[in-house]
Amino acid sequence: MSGVPRVKSMNWREVGHQVDNLLRRWCPEALQRPMVVPVDEFIEWRVEEFGMEFHVDDRLPPGVEAAVDPITKEVLLTPLAFENLNQPHYRFTAAHEIGHIVLHVDQIKERFEDSFGPKLFRRSQLKAYEDPEVQANAFASALLMPTTVVKSMDSPNARMLTDAFGVSYSAASLRLAKLKMF
Ligand SMILES: [Zn+2]
Repeated sequence: MSGVPRVKSMNWREVGHQVDNLLRRWCPEALQRPMVVPVDEFIEWRVEEFGMEFHVDDRLPPGVEAAVDPITKEVLLTPLAFENLNQPHYRFTAAHEIGHIVLHVDQIKERFEDSFGPKLFRRSQLKAYEDPEVQANAFASALLMPTTVVKSMDSPNARMLTDAFGVSYSAASLRLAKLKMF
């Protein structure tokens, strides 16, 4: 894949609204208190309630750990990603793919394939708010660490967030930086 499409501009607040809408229907307690949002359970058992599908795909190209098919609204994960869905890295990956579907799947026709290595995509000509990868990362970050809950924590630091939300240290640090709570 040589590039990503431009999608409708969306700021963090708008992404946050989409996250809150999903959590209210799926896992409302995650908007009340710090918890490890059960992304693995959602992927395996509940996606269809939300108009999506999920498949393990053992034929994704080398270096690609997850993808989204915008036509069928499928989240595709490698067997490795699926088997490790309780691990911080793969929880973020799955949440990121859910974000692609929730935020902009109706605007795109091409399959997204997300690699775990250095990004192959040429994204420099897009503004951040128009970049589907930036939007999907913002979605995943807010889904796993909901804004209202993080803001309700007393002097949170990255280590507290990794324990409370089951995210990586780098994801936790970025979240605090984005919320200006570092
Ligand atoms: Zn992506």
